[in-house]
Amino acid sequence: MADDCIFCKIVAGEVPAAMVYEDDHVVAFHDISPAAPVHVLVIPRKHIASVHDLTAEDSDVLGHIFTAAQHVAREQGIAESGYRVVTNAGKHAGQVVHHLHFHVIGGKMLGHFG
Ligand code: 5GP
Ligand code: ZN
Repeated sequence: MADDCIFCKIVAGEVPAAMVYEDDHVVAFHDISPAAPVHVLVIPRKHIASVHDLTAEDSDVLGHIFTAAQHVAREQGIAESGYRVVTNAGKHAGQVVHHLHFHVIGGKMLGHFG
C-alpha cells in the first residue's frame, strides 16, 4: 500500500466506495464523479502508479482487469450497447489518481476524444 493513495485506501476498506466487482487481484467501484450513466473504475489491489509502470510480473493482474471490465459491462447492462475502457497515464492524459485504474464508461453515445 502506498502512503496517501486514495485507491489503496479504498482497496483496504479505509475509504468507502460503491463496489461492483472484487476478486483476488482487482476491485471495481463506481466513479465518485461519473462522466456517463455508467462509469466504473477497475483497479488492481496492488499499487501500480500507471500503465507505464507495469512489468512482466503484472500480466496476471492485467488479465483480471479486463475480465472484470467485461463482468462490469454485463452487470451494468452496457455489454450490448457498447462501452469504452480507458486509462490515463501522466500529465498530458490528465491522470489525477496515481494508482492504475481503467475507466469503464457507457450508457450513452460517447464522443470521440483527443
Ligand atoms: P484519472 O483522471 O486519474 O484517470 O481519473 C481519476 C478518477 O477517479 C476520476 O474520474 C475521479 O472522479 C475518480 N475519483 C477520485 N477520487 C475518488 C474517490 O475517492 N472515490 C471514487 N469512487 N472515485 C474517485
Ligand atoms: Zn495505491
